[in-house]
Amino acid sequence: MAHDFNNLLTAISGHCDLLMLRHDKNDPDYADLDQISQNANRAAALVGQLLAYSRKQTLKPQSLDLRETLADLTHLLNRLVGERTALTVSHASDLAPIRADKRQLEQVIMNLVVNARDAMPEGGQIRVETEMANLDADQRFDRATVPRGRYVVIRVSDEGVGIAPEKIGKIFEPFFTTKRTGEGTGLGLSTAYGIVKQTGGYIFCESAVGAGTTFTIYLPAHERLADARDAAEEETTVPDP
Ligand code: ADP
Repeated sequence: MAHDFNNLLTAISGHCDLLMLRHDKNDPDYADLDQISQNANRAAALVGQLLAYSRKQTLKPQSLDLRETLADLTHLLNRLVGERTALTVSHASDLAPIRADKRQLEQVIMNLVVNARDAMPEGGQIRVETEMANLDADQRFDRATVPRGRYVVIRVSDEGVGIAPEKIGKIFEPFFTTKRTGEGTGLGLSTAYGIVKQTGGYIFCESAVGAGTTFTIYLPAHERLADARDAAEEETTVPDP
């Protein structure tokens, strides 16, 4: 259905673009055509997100040094947050490697940073921090229990509008959004949740209305980069018949 729908949208925006070519920019109809074209494109982007969400994601885990992953991403994140918002990225010095799909992990961090930006329409500060956590017993947080173990922690925090207590239980549900039609799909956090779970990790959110929101991700740590690589190789090795 989504594909058929996309074909119809492509026809709408294609014909609309043709009409726009035949009209002068000062023509009174031009602004209306422009609106049709923009909204058809927005609808196509929404259908695209739906397709990405519904497609079964196969993760390609590899050993990752989170410092490198975030360094590669910082330029893009800065562009996403714009000029009014300051983004700081800081790391613990003893960060262990993790095993994750780089692209998907980048997607998770981007989704969290975009939400943090949207929560601060007047601008503000977004912090992305990493640290190690050694849990020698299961740890209960407000909204999650993380089993004992050694983890790499990623924290994304903002000073934005916050999330009301009655809504916070719903944010990881697909299609839950408080954004205006056409601006939010409600799929960002459910996608992030799915990727973190598939990576063997945990994600939860703490928020105070008017003060800000912090998303915390726990990902299992590997002792050495070599271990992470070995584990990745083990899985891809095809046994002798
Ligand atoms: P979308 O961003 O398309 O709405 P998400 O699944 O990413 O979808 O987020 C769902 C909802 O969770 C948002 O509409 C918003 O209400 C809330 N939310 C997520 N992150 C934040 C944040 N950092 N601050 C305030 N609200 C947030």
